[in-house]
Amino acid sequence: MIVEGRLVDAHFGPRWGQVEIRDGNIARVGNLGMRPDLKLGEGQLIFPGFVDVHTHLRQGDEHKEDFTTATRAALNGGVTCLLDMPNNPIPPVTQKMLSDKERAVAELPVDIGFYVGVGPGTKPSGHRHYKAFMGPSIGPLFFHDDAELAETVQHYQNCRLTMHCEDPEMLRQLAEAPNHEASRPEKAEQQAISTALGLARRYGFRLHVAHLSQADSLPELMAAERHSWPDANGLPGVVWEATPHHLFFDWDNRKQFARNPFLKMNPPLRSASTRARLLEAFLSGAIHFLSTDHAPHTVDEKSGPNPSGVPLLDTYGSFVSWLMAQGMSARQLCRHACELPGLFSGRKVGRILPGYRGHLTVLDWNQPWTVRAEECRTKCGWSPFEGVTFPARVAYTIASGRLFRHGLEVT
Ligand SMILES: [Zn+2]
Repeated sequence: MIVEGRLVDAHFGPRWGQVEIRDGNIARVGNLGMRPDLKLGEGQLIFPGFVDVHTHLRQGDEHKEDFTTATRAALNGGVTCLLDMPNNPIPPVTQKMLSDKERAVAELPVDIGFYVGVGPGTKPSGHRHYKAFMGPSIGPLFFHDDAELAETVQHYQNCRLTMHCEDPEMLRQLAEAPNHEASRPEKAEQQAISTALGLARRYGFRLHVAHLSQADSLPELMAAERHSWPDANGLPGVVWEATPHHLFFDWDNRKQFARNPFLKMNPPLRSASTRARLLEAFLSGAIHFLSTDHAPHTVDEKSGPNPSGVPLLDTYGSFVSWLMAQGMSARQLCRHACELPGLFSGRKVGRILPGYRGHLTVLDWNQPWTVRAEECRTKCGWSPFEGVTFPARVAYTIASGRLFRHGLEVT
């Protein structure tokens, strides 16, 4: 397959060129003088496929999502590599327990990797990605206090641990607070991040802070990053991510959005000033990854008990176009939505270079997108961005050399 158009990567472009994909991988890039199978125009940009290192694909809760619908949602949003969190009804805590999941995704065109859970008493199992929940977010993988956490993570030297940082003790004290936001304040996240950094230093594990929702922790995080040992891929020993919802919605602006009642997640939305500082940090390149924390729950569930989490895979690419409208360049976005999360994934993804996976995403500025639920592919059937108009939409996604439009294969 030959694709031609304006190419952009964290280290070159945008510039006109061709990409040849053979056997699912990129074979050649440049002025190849070949007849293209897909030729894009001005107003369209070809990115490396986006890489989302934080999603919940819901194995065991298939009424919310399954690997097939999640793959369609990802392709609709231009995401071609994703990592799935372990908070399933039976959370995988060993490499062996993952074989089920690995079989289920083996034939899919996107690259899907998995975290294994870290909980009281677990040990490392030779896996690449581990997830530890500090707060009371998930049944059997929940640590009751810092001592129990330290007792477990001391065994994870040199591993990379992703941590959900909200201080369990503070959350317990605030359990009776008048609303969700008040019960999970910024201070609880800051406190937990300090604790996690201390543990990483003491026990020599590498840290990935999940869904940073405030900017006050950044000086401490950046100091820790400077003093950390990079991993084998050159990624700093301490990295962190931000989500579209924490960069876009806040306590003041949420009222104007159709899905406001559903905007409940952990950590929760913050004040307008906190959001502004987090966004400024992201635009300046001070946050490593753009990750969705895609957490599908059905409309019925969100209308009733309203479990925490929102679905965001379908809108990843359009959200990238929104960040560009806020002043970030396409190349900078390639760094934070492709290259760095690609290094984290440990796969050959996130660059347009020979030898990398045959994944490309075409963003089209001739197609602004006003998000409608019917145009999303996630099984849960809604989006927090319904009614929002983004400057561009993903026109095509190429995954393993196969062509998809709006999540469905073009044959
Ligand atoms: Zn999550």
